[in-house]
Parts: sequence; C-alpha cells; structure tokens
Amino acid sequence: MIRVTGESGELSVGDTEPQAAEGCVVQTTNVKCAECGQVNRVPAAASGTPRCASCHQPLPWIAVAGDRDFTDIVEKSKVPVLVDLWATWCGPCRMVSPALEQLARERAGRLKLVKVDVDAAPQIAARFSVQAVPTLLVTKGGTVLARQSGAAPVAALRTWLDQALAADSSAQSQS
Ligand SMILES: [Zn+2]
Repeated sequence: MIRVTGESGELSVGDTEPQAAEGCVVQTTNVKCAECGQVNRVPAAASGTPRCASCHQPLPWIAVAGDRDFTDIVEKSKVPVLVDLWATWCGPCRMVSPALEQLARERAGRLKLVKVDVDAAPQIAARFSVQAVPTLLVTKGGTVLARQSGAAPVAALRTWLDQALAADSSAQSQS
C-alpha cells in the first residue's frame, strides 16, 4: 500500500519495496546548452531524447553504462547508440573519446553516446567479445549495426557512423 500525504510528496509505504524502479537511482549528467547556456540535468536513460529546459534545443546525450544498466541505457534507447567500449589504461581510447563526443554534439537529438569501461563491465565485454580497446559499436534497439576496433580520426568515424545509420534506414524502407 502506498499513500501520498501532503504536498511535500512524503510517502507512507505499506511494505519495504523501494520507490525507484528496481531500487536503482537513474544517474544524471549536467549538460550545458550550447545555444543558451542553461545547465540541464540529463538522465542516462529516458523514453525520449533530452532537450534544453530553457530553449528546447536538443542536447547532446552522453552516458555511462555498465553490466547492470546496459539494457536500460543502450538497448531501450529510442535513438541509435554509439557504444564506446574503452579502458582506463588505454591511450588510444583517450584520443578517440573527444572525437566521439564531437559526433554526439553534432547529432544531438539523433544519437546517444554511451561509454562502457570494459574492466568495470566484464559481462558486456564478454558478450561483445571485446579483444581490443577501443571497440566501437553502432546499435539500434539492441541490434549491432556496425563495429570497429581501434581509434580513428573524427572524419573517418563520422563516415563510418553515417554509413551504418544509412544502411539501417534503407533496410527499414525496404521492409
Ligand atoms: Zn538552451
């Protein structure tokens, strides 16, 4: 039994079930809007895509996922996800990270960037048979559309990403 009392939102709970879904608090990131400067709290997982609370421009969506929240943050995303499987000790990962963030900014509202530290997420690393880092995936609805290993300049990454997404949209229009 759950009874809400007063405007403060205090809950009188009849059992010990946690209030947040599955007992997890959704992580949020502060993102400054490039258009108006408003700082927005952007959740790692949401049903839509993040927009600025002030000017309503789409915000870049960059999140971190691990073994426990990969499904919610990556597979349930409504927009395609660029997954960066990286490691803290990996020099090329540090080089490719800003390029991926630039792509996420360019495609605000149409792409989500999710970083997975493979050492902290052994199940995800095993599931995608990660042999080298960085390994980059383009996924949509849990399906891997494209995959590549190793760092590359932003122009090459942009071409690779566009090709993966174009192939997916042409496949959809044929069905
Ligand atoms: Zn704004």
